[in-house]
Amino acid sequence: MFRIPSFIHIYGKGIITNPDLERVSSYLKTLLPESTIDVRTDFISFFLGQLDSSKTDDTVDLLAGKLASIRVLDYSKHKLNPDPLYAEIDYERRKMLNPATKSIGVFYDGFELQNVYHSLMYRNFNPRFFGLRPQNDNQQQKCHSERSEESNSIERSEHSFAHSHIVFTNQLITTWEDDDSRYHARSSAYGFPSIISTAGIVEAPAKPREFYLMKQQYGMMGMDDLALAEFKNKFEGRFIEYNDPRMTEVCKGYTAQALFFHITGEPFCEDKGCRLFNAHWQAELIYSQLESPYEFCEKHANILHNL
Ligand SMILES: [Zn+2]
Repeated sequence: MFRIPSFIHIYGKGIITNPDLERVSSYLKTLLPESTIDVRTDFISFFLGQLDSSKTDDTVDLLAGKLASIRVLDYSKHKLNPDPLYAEIDYERRKMLNPATKSIGVFYDGFELQNVYHSLMYRNFNPRFFGLRPQNDNQQQKCHSERSEESNSIERSEHSFAHSHIVFTNQLITTWEDDDSRYHARSSAYGFPSIISTAGIVEAPAKPREFYLMKQQYGMMGMDDLALAEFKNKFEGRFIEYNDPRMTEVCKGYTAQALFFHITGEPFCEDKGCRLFNAHWQAELIYSQLESPYEFCEKHANILHNL
């Protein structure tokens, strides 16, 4: 059974300048003309803005602690950062209060980040979720009754399959792979909400093998201006870079994947020319999103046509 969203909410306005989120939104409208689509500010600011101002400070503190604790410090260890340093928490707090702050190479566990976003969306500010012990039962009870009051709010109605939430972030997300026992950078994590990482689109799908070889060679010998120009020339256009003009087109495909996850539970397709192809190489990404002669394979084009 298909779950067709009547509303699609895209988050990232004000933070994400590439892709052009308005164009991504217009594209989704062509896929689901009956749905209402809006582009909202960055996810955390949007939901903090819904809170009673008396709760904002506490929530920012709780969220800052939680975000700092889901950082991946070492790619090779299946362990996060359960006891974050004050500076790490403070960084998160400052970033939340001023979301345009530049990120400084921090990586998060993608599914844990999804849990944090999910919790924020549901306003489930249960201290236990954030790894804190409630001060006493009365307080816990109060939290509980406050939550049931909130459950009547308009925003609460957005927590159903009628609403699809797609979060754009410029932070890097990673997921743990048992196969080679390490964390891998990801372009996206589909769920409720779905997260699309623009940094992940640049970093996660692998670049041509020669790129790494040449980089290693130049790394050993040092790279002068001529070598740098040659290097850039050789690989020009072969992978998506930060501020790449093709980012909007690529992100249309990632939002289509998020949409298919919402509708069918399966975001990906085996067909290398379909926008739903799960690209592991930049060359595959560029082919599926930019060069393929068709947008969706027959199966997925049919699903869209018959919704
Ligand atoms: Zn397909």
